[in-house]
Amino acid sequence: MSKKVILIVLDGLEYSAGEQCMGFLQALREQNKATLYKLQCELPSMSRPLYEAILTGVAPVNSGIVHNAVTRLSNQESIFSLARSANLTTAAAAYHWFSELYNRTPFQAKRDRYTMDSELAIQYGSFYHQDHYPDDHLFADAEALRRHHDPDFLLIHPMNIDDAGHKAGWDSSKYRNTTRHADMALSEYLPDWLAEGYQVLVTADHGMNNDFSHGGTLTEERMVPLYVLGDGFSHDPDAQPQQLDICGAVCQLLGIKGHNKPYPKDFLETHFTGAL
Ligand SMILES: [Zn+2]
Repeated sequence: MSKKVILIVLDGLEYSAGEQCMGFLQALREQNKATLYKLQCELPSMSRPLYEAILTGVAPVNSGIVHNAVTRLSNQESIFSLARSANLTTAAAAYHWFSELYNRTPFQAKRDRYTMDSELAIQYGSFYHQDHYPDDHLFADAEALRRHHDPDFLLIHPMNIDDAGHKAGWDSSKYRNTTRHADMALSEYLPDWLAEGYQVLVTADHGMNNDFSHGGTLTEERMVPLYVLGDGFSHDPDAQPQQLDICGAVCQLLGIKGHNKPYPKDFLETHFTGAL
């Protein structure tokens, strides 16, 4: 059994901001169409290390992607590489660091801004390279990729929440209002995706602190939401998925055989775990 999957990583979204400001996602939750889990992100609580952690299921100290200036390619099996090995179609509308981790590095906007190359791990890409690239434009980029290329796995990664946190801090109206805008953008697209049968995960790499940064172990830096939507998930409130389980769970939903990525069986519906 296999499903198409959309993974949305809202850069820098701390758990309580998500719970308090994302009215549309919370509405889905109240209607039992979404389940929210609380994750503690891996360390250091920084972007590039955690992109790698989410996409490969490997912690930064083990992947070697330990800070944002490590610009080499990933040397781990990722959702992208495993999906390609299984002949699935991959796409991403994401920050250019994803292009550097899984396609080519260093990023060259002239070459990589729009990517269409069936030989690359991310076959179809729309990669931006400014942190204030508007989230609603990024969601439209992602929808264009979805409509034109019909990917089995689509990564969507907007940056504005993190950008707001770096400018105004975690406990700020700017940070919260940017989160509300991301929720509104999601409400524009999520109903169509769910109606078409996609499995959707909405999460974050790390949170934010009141020093306008992140990287350490403060609760507000580490706690992030994971909303799951779709019939491939168990929606068991007692399941305890971790950030490093996202990769394995997505591989399992995509029907990839023989991957060695961890995931908790009670996080997925039994048809996807082989536990029938
Ligand atoms: Zn940041």
